[in-house]
Amino acid sequence: MHNARGTTHEAYCVEREALSMKQFQVPRPPDDALRDMLASLMDKGKVGGVFALAQTGENSYSYALITDKKLLDHIVPTLPLMPANAGKMVSRLTMLEPVKTPIAVIMRPCELRALFELVKLEQARLDNLLFISYTCGGVLEMKTAKDGLQLKLEEYWKQVKTGGVSEDMRDSCRVCENFVPTGADITLTLVGNDNGKQTTVQVNSEKGEEFLAGLSYELTEAGPELEALDSMRKKRAEQKPDVFGQFAAEELGMAGLTALFGRCIGCHACGRACPVCYCSSCHFEAAENEFDPSTLETELTNRGALRLPTGTLYYQIGRLFHVSISCVGCGMCSDVCPVDIPVASLFAKLAGSVQGMFGYVSGRDAEEKIPTSTFEMEELEEIGA
Ligand code: SF4
Ligand code: SF4
Ligand code: SF4
Repeated sequence: MHNARGTTHEAYCVEREALSMKQFQVPRPPDDALRDMLASLMDKGKVGGVFALAQTGENSYSYALITDKKLLDHIVPTLPLMPANAGKMVSRLTMLEPVKTPIAVIMRPCELRALFELVKLEQARLDNLLFISYTCGGVLEMKTAKDGLQLKLEEYWKQVKTGGVSEDMRDSCRVCENFVPTGADITLTLVGNDNGKQTTVQVNSEKGEEFLAGLSYELTEAGPELEALDSMRKKRAEQKPDVFGQFAAEELGMAGLTALFGRCIGCHACGRACPVCYCSSCHFEAAENEFDPSTLETELTNRGALRLPTGTLYYQIGRLFHVSISCVGCGMCSDVCPVDIPVASLFAKLAGSVQGMFGYVSGRDAEEKIPTSTFEMEELEEIGA
């Protein structure tokens, strides 16, 4: 289907996935294969550090930047948890100046896309970063980390092997069709693989080949395994009525949004966790947004009652305007919501419509401009008609 800018998203995905590439096999599970590869890169002085998900205590996980090779034992890069969006974390590390020593960065596709989006918004830099990602089976809700993680992992990896969808995944992952990384130098193909036994590593860029040169891997020409990817994409598309069904267009007027955010306590955790909600001074937290007594009085005179805390819906509508063109559908906003509002499902649904109008997929390409930052004479003509 064509959009305002005459491109198609589907065509782009197929084109990216069909690129021929080089690959090698490692007879070890993915995390072990990655630890070995990263240790070799550090030994040879090709990278000075590693950014990856790490276990930091019992039931406790966070992203870490590691420069001591001995600490690589703590990384768990493919464990299906996302305590923060890694794109936001790398933005923090690189916003003021690029890293001086090459760093290997391991992140999921939506985190990489968030980082590319942040580069376009001048919030991050890519210099000296080697990107490693993987075909992504999704993540579990963070509360799983302290509640039955080991039990759920068995079912999770079974689904990843067959290109299926695990019930315990974040809703945003159940409907995510952008689970194949674009822009990674090195990609592990987890979907469709028996990840308990071996790991397939694809090398997608000259930079990836340069980093791996001199290591004991034998590269062969290969194409991607499209069958398992297609299966996962189809199964995720089938989840959409369940996840998005509650947001039918007729439900999204003021009454629908008011009901949806009726439990909101105005904590703004959803915005703080969102990678593309990046302003350090948030307009909605500024002093001018405090209710002054005269406004309070007017509201009470007009309505006879006032919901407290105030401004919760105003905040969400503002956030929708600000981030829907760049939302990567990562699900962080829902995961951190203390009152279980399905924020990410709403944002992902509306972001799909907004981005679809421009044939844009946020962060799929670091060079592609954000459509709202450019102007084309012949687009959205129906709006002015
Ligand atoms: S949103 Fe997509 S890429 Fe991100 S963790 Fe979920 S499945 Fe993976
Ligand atoms: S709005 Fe939610 S789903 Fe979208 S990028 Fe932000 S945190 Fe992720
Ligand atoms: S995290 Fe939940 S409760 Fe907090 S502001 Fe966002 S929607 Fe409201």
